[in-house]
Amino acid sequence: MPELWSAPPGEGWSAVIDPRTATAAELDAADPLAHLRDEFDLPDGVYLVGNSLGALPRAARDTVGVEFDRWAALGVEGHFTGRLGWKNYHELVTDQLAALVGADATEVVAMNGLTVNLHLLLVSFYRPTPQRHKVLIEGHAFPSDHFAAESQIRQRGFDPATSLVTLDPRPGEETLRRDDILDTIADLGDELAVVLLPGVQYYTGQVMPMADIVAAGHAVGATVGFDLAHAIGNIELNLSEWGVDFAAWCTYKYLNSGPGGVAGAYVHQRHVSDQDLPKLLGWWGTNPSTRFAMATEFEPIPTVESWQLSNAPVLPLAVLRASLDLFDRAGGMSALRAKSERQIRYLDRRLAETLHGRVENISPQAMEERGCQFALRVVAGKGRDVFRALEEARVLCDWREPDVIRVAPVPLYNSFTDIDCFVQTLDEVVA
Ligand SMILES: *Cc1c(COP(=O)(O)O)cnc(C)c1O
Repeated sequence: MPELWSAPPGEGWSAVIDPRTATAAELDAADPLAHLRDEFDLPDGVYLVGNSLGALPRAARDTVGVEFDRWAALGVEGHFTGRLGWKNYHELVTDQLAALVGADATEVVAMNGLTVNLHLLLVSFYRPTPQRHKVLIEGHAFPSDHFAAESQIRQRGFDPATSLVTLDPRPGEETLRRDDILDTIADLGDELAVVLLPGVQYYTGQVMPMADIVAAGHAVGATVGFDLAHAIGNIELNLSEWGVDFAAWCTYKYLNSGPGGVAGAYVHQRHVSDQDLPKLLGWWGTNPSTRFAMATEFEPIPTVESWQLSNAPVLPLAVLRASLDLFDRAGGMSALRAKSERQIRYLDRRLAETLHGRVENISPQAMEERGCQFALRVVAGKGRDVFRALEEARVLCDWREPDVIRVAPVPLYNSFTDIDCFVQTLDEVVA
């Protein structure tokens, strides 16, 4: 653990507030972001499941309401009228999403759903040859990612039995070791076409060593992509600088865009104008100034927007805008992460003080390998009963088979008091 919990200057935290000794009330009082909680409508009880579905930003009722009003008043003219013209509506979130993933605006677009985007990007970045045809994913990949990789392999006439390689923790271990990931990539060598790993693992909460994985993948000539479903809005990302080839994410988890919200995609600058990349085409990827001339000559937009197929879903994007404004008001991911690290330390401490080893956190210990999500296992078994009892007490977290309770204090709206309530309730139900 770090020595005294002093804040970097400019973040508004008092240097004397140490989450290893302070009370929840003291930490909440010192929290420069505490007021943002009032910008959300949270379910009754303690909501600690923003890793699964983020909370409703209150302003979304207005941002969506504006689009209803525009639709009612303008009808189809809404596509072309004013700053909020729907034809360009997706552009309104580009800069904010680019800031969250550490990319240039030309590298980021909001479109489709996450799994759809993984498919579209694999069409471009998985170009198997008889020599180089393997895709590396994790053995515990989110099923949708596994299905996407498996079906892409079949689609190209290869066999997942020989082309899909999975990476698992060592026997008896919960998380992947950095060196095991890098060695596996090096061993696959010139048979490896694509590395597709999560930025943050959905079950254990482990943050992957993304920059190292990119370097290892590129060293053997593979492309490297990340699924950022659990990373965006949770940890700081630097996709461009790390040289990540492609990435995709959903926005209904830490980005609070609501159920089924619009996903995002990223393609590195060096690929966005590459005409040799195979790509599925649609009218939203072609030059907007000739789009409505209805010509059938495809003129790719010289950004990642050339991967767009359909016109953008304006109402879900309106919700996302309300949420992204709150990330700006928070001061961006560095300020949120500064709070998140304090919340992580505080929850660590309260579990140690209160549960005395009756609950084990299988997330990594090192701060650089952790996001805000904890993966807790009840040592005496009966985790599912404990989870149900928490739900009955209106302490909302989530259950993932086979035996983990996931709990995520989200710095944008969760308080230290929420964390304290969780631990006290957990203590009661475990006993
Ligand atoms: C949440 C999540 C998904 C969900 O996929 P959708 O296409 O948004 O339904 C996929 N992969 C991972 C890793 C996730 O965490």
